[in-house]
Amino acid sequence: MRPGADVVVVGGGPAGAMAAMTLAARGVSTLLLDKKRFPRDKPCGGGIRYGVLRRFPALADYLRTTVEIHEIRKVRMEGPSGASLLAESDEPFYLTLRRTEFDAALLARARAVGARVLEAVRVTDLLFSADGVANDLLRANILWTTEGFQAWLAVVIADTWKTAPFIGLLVLAGLQIIPAEVYEAAKVDGSSAWRTFWRITLPLVKPALVVAVLFRMLDVLRMFDLPFVLIGPQKKSTQTLSLLAYNDMSNLHFGPAAAYATVLFAYVAVVAYAFVRLLGADIVGRGVGGGR
Ligand SMILES: Cc1cc2nc3c(=O)[nH]c(=O)nc-3n(C[C@H](O)[C@H](O)[C@H](O)COP(=O)(O)OP(=O)(O)OC[C@H]3O[C@@H](n4cnc5c(N)ncnc54)[C@H](O)[C@@H]3O)c2cc1C
Repeated sequence: MRPGADVVVVGGGPAGAMAAMTLAARGVSTLLLDKKRFPRDKPCGGGIRYGVLRRFPALADYLRTTVEIHEIRKVRMEGPSGASLLAESDEPFYLTLRRTEFDAALLARARAVGARVLEAVRVTDLLFSADGVANDLLRANILWTTEGFQAWLAVVIADTWKTAPFIGLLVLAGLQIIPAEVYEAAKVDGSSAWRTFWRITLPLVKPALVVAVLFRMLDVLRMFDLPFVLIGPQKKSTQTLSLLAYNDMSNLHFGPAAAYATVLFAYVAVVAYAFVRLLGADIVGRGVGGGR
């Protein structure tokens, strides 16, 4: 499944539909995809602020004709003492509607102005389906989500891609606390860029790096969702302890499931302890030499 679009918008909720609508209306070739089918179930109250319609007047006319909207113009508030207050306005305070209808109407509008919409498609399908981006880039025909090394690789790539921004932010925070003076001193001493990186940046950013690796390590050890949705359950190449526990629990083998969960807990605890004791991960932010 090739994107075949300049912009891929993931998620067909109000944010995604509005983004796709705006881009498509400006002539950008846009593909919007959502893992659900619309109208989708959504745990959401049935209202929006009137300001929303005021802010998008062109859209308001369309929504008024496609969605059943009730305007709330009068509100009575009553206190425990029995005192009450009636607020009344010519302009509605609030609108009530069915959110499933509202969201589906926004998506239909995005379609109408030219966005291509794919329902029941996950963003990872675009990458790893047989005719997806990965095969396109490699000019290969690998069945990424079938049992084997390629399934493991697909999970590794997807997980790295998914969590890289988080790690980037953690490391950026670590880099930002390195004082500028140490770089100035290195410059005065004639240190080369490589030496400055090796002797200053790396040692000073090490606490943040160790914490970042620790967080990722703990996340990876208990990984469940990604292999489960991307590859599927009971695949040897992407089996994790959480998946083993889930499989046994689904077959009502509660004993082995509990055993897997307990081993996972011990495993995670040992790795976390090793990181804190051996590598000096500073998870509570005491700073260098703190907490003595
Ligand atoms: C219980 C509850 C009550 C609420 N009540 C109100 C209310 O009364 N009034 C109000 O204005 N707001 C309410 N909200 C908030 C409102 O629902 C959200 O602000 C709004 O839905 C956010 O829109 P969105 O487009 O950002 O995200 P969403 O509407 O959550 O849309 C995100 C979409 O992305 C899709 N998606 C996620 N991952 C992938 C993937 N990997 N591949 C493909 N698709 C993916 C999901 O299927 C989903 O359809 C409520 C929220 C909750 C939880």
